Amino acid sequence: MSYLKEVIAKLKEKNPAEPEFHQAAEEVMETLEPTVEKHPEFVKAAIYERIVEPDRVIMFRVPWVDDRGKVHVNKGFRVQFNNAIGPYKGGLRFHPSVNLGIIKFLGFEQIFKNSLTTLPIGGGKGGSDFDPKGKSDGEVMKFCYSFMRELYRYLGPDTDVPAGDIGVGGREIGYLFGFYKKIKNEHTGVFTGKGREWGGSLIRPEATGYGAVYYAAEMLATRNDDFKGKYVAISGSGNVAQYATQKVNELGGIPITLSDSSGTIVDMDGIKGEKWDFVMNLKNVKRGRIKEYAEKYNVKYYEGKSVWDVIKEEGVKVDIALPCATQNEINKEQAQGLVNNGCICLSEGANMPSDLEAINIYMDNNILYGPGKAANAGGVSVSGLEMSQNSLRLSWTREEVDNHLQRIMKSIHKASLEAAEAYGDPGNYMMGANIAGFIKVAKTMLAYGVI
Ligand code: NDP
Repeated sequence: MSYLKEVIAKLKEKNPAEPEFHQAAEEVMETLEPTVEKHPEFVKAAIYERIVEPDRVIMFRVPWVDDRGKVHVNKGFRVQFNNAIGPYKGGLRFHPSVNLGIIKFLGFEQIFKNSLTTLPIGGGKGGSDFDPKGKSDGEVMKFCYSFMRELYRYLGPDTDVPAGDIGVGGREIGYLFGFYKKIKNEHTGVFTGKGREWGGSLIRPEATGYGAVYYAAEMLATRNDDFKGKYVAISGSGNVAQYATQKVNELGGIPITLSDSSGTIVDMDGIKGEKWDFVMNLKNVKRGRIKEYAEKYNVKYYEGKSVWDVIKEEGVKVDIALPCATQNEINKEQAQGLVNNGCICLSEGANMPSDLEAINIYMDNNILYGPGKAANAGGVSVSGLEMSQNSLRLSWTREEVDNHLQRIMKSIHKASLEAAEAYGDPGNYMMGANIAGFIKVAKTMLAYGVI
């Protein structure tokens, strides 16, 4: 058994019942194989064993009272995975599926993603199995306050700076940051994704979706291609999907799908202009279901089906795919469905949306494949820029931030390509992103000795 396979075997044995964490660690370790020979110093210092073990795991009870006076208890998590190159940084996810293994997978991915951004930020992630869907604003507020009543003691602008993720948007960040400010009596940059009026950065809401599209554009450019006139399948209809849709339109592509956990809509005329405004209002103000788009614009709605099932089963033509919903939304059969219907490029807005077998299908069919930790790093990059602006007590213009974002996405693309080439598999963005992200953190851990 190879050295890294042993590391994975030990990790599985010591952390049973965490399948998403195993999957994420396995994907990274498999692609790090060429670094073992080139860097015996990493093996000697047990960097590989150390990097899969979080610095710290915080788990806590979150009790709260609903509008009818009933008491509920949720689980709270923060995994402070690795702060070698900067304060822990990574979002909070509120979704009923959240458990320790999911937060560990996300925190682990975040180490490499944050390293790739070129900014000084470490990796962490947190969240709760609380479901904000169907809750009143008052209930969400009470939950957020209870969550922060415990978590605040582990945060700080130079220690750990959370942001949003699934189920945590502007409203939730407001309640979380508001409570922190109150209890600590300090107005510091301890959250990113804040509102404009209270320290937020322009372009932060747009950053992940825009970034995933910029990354796809960079990949397409290597084949002298672009978005113009291309059919683009997007999954999800939350923050990342919404702004990916907007940017695809700006670059001349035709976004044809959106979804939520209830079903998928297909609109071959493109989700643009007034239709895009409708989605923004539906999801961010009315908090309704994507089905209402189909009713309003008289397009097809597929109840209970994902975008990837619909493409496979209905033979929908698609050139570019942007999965922007959740982990493991694309399996082997669905990936084959994308290939059969013409997909040439896939850029992951979501974290780990493709399972390992799906990724193999992309590779075997020469699809330009941008893995999440590179392609969706735009969000955390602008979060890093929000931290810089907070420290400087300045705010930059839209153009300044967007220019930084484009520059960073280009540099992540370049770093991934160069690392893939240097380590013997040119064009393999997954391997390149993992290696480029890893080397910087590994060298830093080495510099600190054994701590
Ligand atoms: P949102 O909560 O704003 O939107 C999530 C969307 O995905 C919703 O449409 C939701 O549908 C759908 N979805 C979530 N879980 C499932 C599921 N289990 N099955 C089917 N559909 C599901 O989250 P974001 O847009 O912020 O995040 C989307 C993805 O992007 C996640 O993987 C996240 O980790 C990743 N990401 C987000 C970043 C950010 O800056 N926000 C940064 C980097 C990555 P429904 O409303 O019905 O649940």
